[in-house]
Amino acid sequence: MLQPLVMSAIVTLVVIAITQGLSYAVWGGMEGGYALSIVVMSAAIPLITCYPITLTLLLQGRRLREMVVALECAQRQLSENASRDMMTGLLHRQAFKEHLQERRAAGTLLMLDVDHFKSINDTHGHMAGDEALMQIAEALRASTRQSDLIARFGGEEFCVFLPGATATQAIPLAERIRTAIEALRFTPNGVSHPLTISIGLAAKPAALPLDAAMQAADGALYAAKRGGRNQIVCADGEELSRSMKAA
Ligand code: GH3
Ligand code: MG
Ligand code: MG
Repeated sequence: MLQPLVMSAIVTLVVIAITQGLSYAVWGGMEGGYALSIVVMSAAIPLITCYPITLTLLLQGRRLREMVVALECAQRQLSENASRDMMTGLLHRQAFKEHLQERRAAGTLLMLDVDHFKSINDTHGHMAGDEALMQIAEALRASTRQSDLIARFGGEEFCVFLPGATATQAIPLAERIRTAIEALRFTPNGVSHPLTISIGLAAKPAALPLDAAMQAADGALYAAKRGGRNQIVCADGEELSRSMKAA
């Protein structure tokens, strides 16, 4: 508030000085001289008009700037919300793909699918299924780094991108995710229900189109399902999880 008050006072003083100068130029040389009433009027009129008008304009300008900042903030929040899955808060498929296509980054893709998820809905209801998805999303967040991208691809399918990681480097992380989900204590209606996921893993060199890497990870995921679930399969055919689980 202080700044507009001071600014208005400065502007008013300048206008008073100009008005005084003009009054003197007009009436100073006239017969009868430069009367005190002219001096008072040349100060009073700018004071009564200029000061409130300038103050109002400055305050409105400040309010407008505040509104623009608030609008920009709301717009950022809206576009952030639009790119996220409402239930889990993870990126949705389209936002995930756009992120990666923009960056053309190299890394490793993990395609994850919850095992026998339908049985949760069938046994404990849809709400319990939703709760399981939220727990899994939280476990994914907790097992990955800030720089990793995590998305819910729809239903009970998730995708994780590990930027800069080779397939070999990504294997321990995939295993950490698999074990973190296996370790979740999911007890809908007080009854313990096992949660496991299958993971397909595929390297994505910068030059490889994202869709090709996704297809490769998807193929590996189906191999993990066929292989008995709760395991990781690498797209290049490496046998991973079963040997790790045995170790
Ligand atoms: P698999 O091990 O082969 O993956 O078996 P699955 O039962 O996990 O897979 P399936 O595709 O047979 O079933 C997926 C189920 O996920 C069916 C669908 O009703 C349920 N589903 C999809 N989206 C949601 C959701 O947002 N909430 C809940 N509760 N269920 C969902
Ligand atoms: Mg499933
Ligand atoms: Mg599925």
